[in-house]
Amino acid sequence: MPELPEVESVKNGLNKLISGKAITNVDVLWINIIKDPSISEFKERIAGQVIEAVKRRGKFLLFFLTDDVLISHLRMEGKYRLENTDVPRTKHTHVVFELDSGEELRYLDVRKFGKMSLIAKEKWTQHPSMLKLGPEPTNEELKIKHLVNALKKTERPIKACLLDQTIVAGVGNIYADEILYDACIHPERKGKSLQLDEIKDLRNSIITIINKAVDKGGTTIRTYSNAFGTEGGYQTYLSVYGKKDEKCSRCQHTIKKIKVAQRGTHYCPYCQK
Ligand SMILES: [Zn+2]
Repeated sequence: MPELPEVESVKNGLNKLISGKAITNVDVLWINIIKDPSISEFKERIAGQVIEAVKRRGKFLLFFLTDDVLISHLRMEGKYRLENTDVPRTKHTHVVFELDSGEELRYLDVRKFGKMSLIAKEKWTQHPSMLKLGPEPTNEELKIKHLVNALKKTERPIKACLLDQTIVAGVGNIYADEILYDACIHPERKGKSLQLDEIKDLRNSIITIINKAVDKGGTTIRTYSNAFGTEGGYQTYLSVYGKKDEKCSRCQHTIKKIKVAQRGTHYCPYCQK
């Protein structure tokens, strides 16, 4: 599942390829991808609008159009492809935006879990999917006080807290493991058990790990690549994710994999307390 750094990389690619192009028509081939408004309203409103810029909030892509914002979540396997019209659509092509350049921006999704919403530009921050989102993992947005408040009463393991998009936006399974390793915090620790110093370390690790992964264009694992087949470079920097039974580079103990919050979780039992 793409996390913030991978979505950022998709966003950058899309911006280069489609900014300034107009959508002449949209074909919706799998209606459940469109969450709101109705299919007919979605199609009617979007036709004729220009794609001014593509932005990102958490793991959401935001297509800023002339009048509206298209909010798109890739979920497990959603991808965008820019193709010429003569390239055959596959059975996984579910939404097609026809562009005035003669190309098509196609949304493909093997699992069909992805969602799109269209909302008036002046209201996009009020869309239900945006209202719940916590701060971006940046030095400016992610305040220590917010983390202290979010964690102080929760019995949930800290790994589950990091995956909770209302606490911090954009972190998923890979980076949660990397962040907790970097901060030397055991993934099963209850949120409320973290001391102020540990929360400060955790905040630093969130910001550092996510920023570095953004710089490297995200992580490419197995079949995941960004919208245009280019690969991220962060996989060579992973410390624990996917490293079960390998040696911890800090202490040489063996990295373990357990289940926390129903997710495969990698950690070093010696240096994560
Ligand atoms: Zn270790």
